[in-house]
Formats: sequence, structure tokens, C-alpha cells
Amino acid sequence: MKIAVIGGGIAGLSAGYELLLQNHQVTIFEASGYLGGQASTFEVGNQFLEKGYHHLFTSDKDIIQLMNELGIENNLQWIPSKVGIYKSNKIWNFATPLDLLKFKPLSFISRIRLGLVALYLQRQKNWKKYENVTAHKWLQKMVGKNAYQAVWEPLLRGKFGSQYKNIGMTWFWGKIALRFASREKGMSKELLGYPMGSFRIISDRLSEKILDLGGNIHTNTNIHEVIVDKNICKGIRILNSDNSYEDSEFDAVLSTAPSHVLPKIAKLPEHYAKNLNKMDYLTAVLVVLSLNKPLSGIYWLNVADEDIPFVGVIEHTNFISPKHYDGNHIVYFSNYLSKDHHLYSKNLNELLEIFIPAIKKINPEFDENWINDAHYFRVEAAQPIITKNYSELIPNHRTPIQNLYLANTTQIYPEDRGTNYSVRIGRKIAHMILEDHNHKIIDRLPAPVIANSFTNSKNF
Ligand SMILES: Cc1cc2nc3c(=O)[nH]c(=O)nc-3n(C[C@H](O)[C@H](O)[C@H](O)COP(=O)(O)OP(=O)(O)OC[C@H]3O[C@@H](n4cnc5c(N)ncnc54)[C@H](O)[C@@H]3O)c2cc1C
Repeated sequence: MKIAVIGGGIAGLSAGYELLLQNHQVTIFEASGYLGGQASTFEVGNQFLEKGYHHLFTSDKDIIQLMNELGIENNLQWIPSKVGIYKSNKIWNFATPLDLLKFKPLSFISRIRLGLVALYLQRQKNWKKYENVTAHKWLQKMVGKNAYQAVWEPLLRGKFGSQYKNIGMTWFWGKIALRFASREKGMSKELLGYPMGSFRIISDRLSEKILDLGGNIHTNTNIHEVIVDKNICKGIRILNSDNSYEDSEFDAVLSTAPSHVLPKIAKLPEHYAKNLNKMDYLTAVLVVLSLNKPLSGIYWLNVADEDIPFVGVIEHTNFISPKHYDGNHIVYFSNYLSKDHHLYSKNLNELLEIFIPAIKKINPEFDENWINDAHYFRVEAAQPIITKNYSELIPNHRTPIQNLYLANTTQIYPEDRGTNYSVRIGRKIAHMILEDHNHKIIDRLPAPVIANSFTNSKNF
């Protein structure tokens, strides 16, 4: 078969790689000038670094397996995480059960309740029972308002900004189950993974393999239209820089672009287009500072203080040594925002003006002279908003147009979206396309690795 893949992020590259290994022809079209999508990088201190902080959990079996297959398994390092909460003008360590016991802003009873509820959730297997309740409601009821506001509300705000009250409990359950799965036996430590050299080594190696296997990759190529005739997808249309159109025929087209892109480029039946347009995302807005001194001793700091204009402080060099970045200490200040949020359209200088007094609250010694360099990134469609009863909203991978498929982060559920699931979804849809066209699947992988036995039975 001849297959076009729209999007050169991890899902598109994984799908393309799998289709080529199954002996089919693949062309990948990426709108931007680089590959890797949300996991793409920039250069800092002579090293590549993700525009948005990235790490892996030990439960991320599919991407670990892919790294093995690509021969880059030795780049993957596992490092104990250093997690904290900024609350009551202080940074509290929050990585181990002992840290929870020492968390003074809460009463002893509240701390015990928090620990017990986390343990309870970790043991639950049936995510469906959490579908019709929000995390905001369920957690407050189970751990009490104070404990919720001190610990879990910041986690939800960190991920979903002002939408945090609408998030389904299933999403939260998945997060807890996976975080605990990333702990060493006895739960004392959580290990997080990082591909040394950045996540770029995964997209670079995937693209090298795709080209070696005879695939084509076109960057700076925005798909203008998916050509449909009598409800059958026939190929794609590109708008060239000289305003001419170029059509190419394909037997199948897979879109890995955000859901709202497809109705703009393909004539879809109204009900399916309406469903895709309903899939709502938040934008990740990131200020990244290279400092000449460390800001804190914490890698991942949730901010439980609504007066601070960012919800997460991720000090990457408390995870990966500053020696890899020419001695720079790298800190991300993160927000997930909707387009109407007042911070969404601010530029780097405007954000810095607002952020610097808040950074001084986190570390009173912080001084602007510590800043070697500052960067700003806005990642659109970064986080699908996972409301309650989300399973009913998930669009099908098989669109109503024959030979046109969709695989993107809105279809990852009940797990949280992440590079691991983009690898998994890319491979699954590659197989789905071939099965739909009566091609035999070469059984080339070891036994399927399903982290925590999650499956999306509606789609797979
Ligand atoms: C701030 C942040 C932190 C994150 N942290 C982690 C983490 O710690 N660990 C982890 O595993 N994951 C993390 N993720 C998530 C992870 O990066 C994504 O889930 C994953 O990269 C999504 O890959 P994808 O291929 O599905 O989508 P994308 O990366 O969004 O790729 C889709 C591609 O389609 C292209 N496209 C769109 N429209 C068109 C068109 N018309 N024509 C051609 N191309 C088009 C886009 O340019 C894009 O490159 C994070 C994401 C963000 C934003």
C-alpha cells in the first residue's frame, strides 16, 4: 500500500516506521520545519533540550521497547525524581511517603487520609467507575477540602489551568496508577527516565530509519486538503509557495494532527466533524531560563499558591546534571492556558516582568543577574481537556471517509497523553490500516507490552 501520514510528531513517525517495516510505502508530511512535534527541541548550552520539559516513567513500555529497537537504549537513564510542593511560602519535598508525613501545612489526620486514598487508587483496576465524576468533587470528598487544596488541586491546576474543576476522575486515577507504577518496590523512590541527548534522539533515529527503509519525509509541508471522492479518500493536496497546488494519490491517509485540523482539510460528514471540533485543548506556555545558579533542589515543583503566576517550576538540571548544558541551570516556568487567558498572548519580556517577583518568592536570593538566557515557547494543542465521561467523546480512529484515519492525543485514554502512547497509537493504527485492507501483519515485535493492561476497547 501507499500511505500518507500527516504530522511528523512521535505518533506520525512511529506509524510511518511500522508501516515501512511491514513492507508498505510511506510519505510523511510535516507542516513545521522540524520533526518531533510537541517533543521537539531547541539548543541550550551546546545541547538539545525539549521546548517543554519531558521525562519517561518506568511504565512507558512501548517507547522503551522502541528505543531498544532503534539501538538507542543505552541513552536512557533512570534517575530518582525530586518532587516538591510550594505552599505557605516554603518548598516542601514531596517524593516519598515520609515526605507526606512531614508535610506540616496539613493536620496529621489529613496526611494519613491523603496517603491512604493514594494507595487505594493505585490498587483500583476499573477506571470506568470514575467516569461520571470530576476529580475536583471526588478528591475533596475523599481527602477533605484542605488536603485537596494543598496537594491535588495544584497538580490538577498544573495540568489543566483554569479548567481543573472539569477534569474527570478517571484521568486522575490514571495519573496516580502510573506514577506509582514508576516507583521502586517498597514505593520509597520514584524513578524517571530521560534519553540522554534529549527526546530528539528518538525522532532523529526514527527519521533516519524511515529514510533507510525507503520512506519519504517532507517538512515545511502543510497539507492543504485531503482529497475525497464519493466518500473515499484518494490522496492529499499541497499548496506550494508559488500558490500552485500539487496532488498526490495514496491508498490511505493517516492524520496525526490535532483533531480540529481534520475538519478544515477534509470534507467530513457533519456529525464526525462536529465531534472533532468539540475536542478541546489547552496551550502550554513555557518560559525557560538558563541560570548561572540553581534555583532550588527540586526537579518538579507544583505551586500551591494562586498569587504565583505559574503553576509548575521544573528545574531540569535537578534531573540531568548542568554539566551537560555547559554549566547552565535550566528551569521551566509552565502554564497550561486557554486562548482567552490574560497570559496567553504575552511575550517573553512581558511574562518575565510578571514572573520575576514570583520567582523571588520561591527563592528570595534569586537575582536577575542569575539569568544567562531566556526562552519562550507556546505549544498549541498541548493538552486535551479530559472531562468526565470522556470515553463517550473520543473520535473513532476510522473516520467515516473510507481510507482516512485519525490518531492523535485526544484518543489516548484513560492514560495521560505522552510520547509512550503516541508510539503505541502510531503502531496500532498502522496495523489497523493494513488489516482493513486485508494485508497480513508481520508479527515482528515481542509480546505486546501493555502498561498496566490499559486498553481503549472502543477503538482497538
Ligand atoms: C509542555 C509539555 C510537556 C510534556 N511532557 C511530557 C513528558 O514528560 N513525557 C512524555 O512522554 N510526554 C510529554 N508531553 C507530551 C508529548 O510530547 C506528546 O504527547 C507527544 O509528543 C504527541 O505526539 P503526537 O505525534 O501525537 O502529536 P504532535 O507532537 O502534536 O504532532 C503532530 C504534528 O502534526 C503536525 N501538523 C499539524 N497540522 C498539519 C498539517 N495540516 N499538515 C502537516 N502537518 C501538520 C504538527 O506540526 C505536529 O508536528 C509533553 C507535552 C508538552 C506540550
